[in-house]
Amino acid sequence: MPTCAGCGYAYSDSFKFCPQCGRPKPDEPKIVLDVKVSGVAHDFDCPMCGDASGVQKVSAIVGGGTHETHGASTSSGSGQVYSEATGERIANSYTSSTVSSYNKSQTVLAQKLTLPDPPEKPTESQFEAPGCWGWVAGILGVIGATAILWKIEPYNDLWDGIGSGFLACGIWLLLATIIGGGAGFLGMSIGNSMNDSKEKFTTAMGIYNNELLIYQQAKAQWDELYYCHKHDVVFTPKIRQAVVVDHAIEACYRWGKTQ
Ligand SMILES: [Zn+2]
Ligand SMILES: [Zn+2]
Repeated sequence: MPTCAGCGYAYSDSFKFCPQCGRPKPDEPKIVLDVKVSGVAHDFDCPMCGDASGVQKVSAIVGGGTHETHGASTSSGSGQVYSEATGERIANSYTSSTVSSYNKSQTVLAQKLTLPDPPEKPTESQFEAPGCWGWVAGILGVIGATAILWKIEPYNDLWDGIGSGFLACGIWLLLATIIGGGAGFLGMSIGNSMNDSKEKFTTAMGIYNNELLIYQQAKAQWDELYYCHKHDVVFTPKIRQAVVVDHAIEACYRWGKTQ
């Protein structure tokens, strides 16, 4: 809370002047920074040049070097559809149709500096036993249930007369669904255990987690990667080692493991 130098009145900081006498509020003390601009070293200076004049962040090169174009082309009759932008064949066409085109073009440099896609996460269904295990067991279950049902005298009697025939049909459908479904589930369980599905999935997940970690470590290096246009090399501010651009991604993986 400032105190007025003129009248001694203490007033709120939100005022620009003393509400009592109108004297302007004294300026707050200024912090003077003396920064020398020339000859400042950046941590992203090229280790070979010693300065940052030819240096660009790799993520910016890859982002700027990737051009995606979305469009649509219409064709009629039998033939092939070519992209207007690149002249590349994008689809076969047999009737009048509109084909959306998706083209991705990258500069050679951006291509060399692009990190590959992350590993794909395995799914449990990839390791399941073939579906025929469930189908065969389910159908056997329905046949078995039907055969037993037929042996039951009161059920058999229901088939006489139209009204009771519908009831018999309903009972059969209900039983077929429950027993067929249950048998199908059991069949899949047996198939999966014979197939070691759970074990295979666990192994695949272990490999995936390991690969993902390696990828993430490489990605962290890549996020810090700089490129020198003068020397055609990459480096990170932390690891001041110039690596030729063809080995840039390889270096990210190597550095990622040691960091
Ligand atoms: Zn005052
Ligand atoms: Zn350089």
